[in-house]
Amino acid sequence: MTSSVAKISENAQRVLERIEQAAADAGRLRSEVQLVAVAKYVDIDTTAALVQSGLDLLGESRPQQLWQKAASPALESIRWHMIGHLQRNKVQRTVPLVDLIHSVDSERLLRSIDRAASEHGKKQRVLLEVNTSGDAAKHGLSSVELQKLLPTLTDFSSVEVCGLMTMAAREGGTAVASRNFAALRELRDVVQRECPDGIKLTELSMGMSHDFETAIREGATLVRIGSLLFQGVL
Ligand SMILES: *Cc1c(COP(=O)(O)O)cnc(C)c1O
Repeated sequence: MTSSVAKISENAQRVLERIEQAAADAGRLRSEVQLVAVAKYVDIDTTAALVQSGLDLLGESRPQQLWQKAASPALESIRWHMIGHLQRNKVQRTVPLVDLIHSVDSERLLRSIDRAASEHGKKQRVLLEVNTSGDAAKHGLSSVELQKLLPTLTDFSSVEVCGLMTMAAREGGTAVASRNFAALRELRDVVQRECPDGIKLTELSMGMSHDFETAIREGATLVRIGSLLFQGVL
């Protein structure tokens, strides 16, 4: 356990340095990019090692795992992000625990989140997930579906839509990832102009362990990194 804490700290330092470098290379401010440390591969003890390494913004892709960790005294004072697919029957328990939901991919889900947030007396921050890779196995709205959803956003008074999220194609390397990330940024720029007043799509959640530097170059404000943090530990 102690040695894994040291290893995770070292990994975290290295990831933070690479984020800093990527931001500098892109001519962006370091403060424009936040690291969401994805803890889905590890148990509560190992997740606590992330926190000891100074990371306090954590992501989980499975609601049950998020509920369990959020209830753990070892993981207090963490900001949780739900980054994976969220089923509507998991919304009620997830909403009170999370700062941001990255993966809203339907109007029905948005409606459930709005209802739960209203019941919990909170305004839930969310991102809309867009399928930029054209991979049918991936979740996410098409750009047409996103454009249809926009005018309805004002109906959801307990939800704050603050940006878009995507996952790049796994195949095709940097060139394809770069194109997918640029597509999300360009789509954001276009739809921002069509958005109802008061909605600001500031956040772009894109980039994972193998492609976060490319994502930062294309404008990512949130990078979701898991495997790199646990290298040599898992
Ligand atoms: C697992 C996961 C990540 C992190 O992936 P790594 O390649 O391990 O960095 C990011 N985003 C989502 C939605 C994930 O499910």
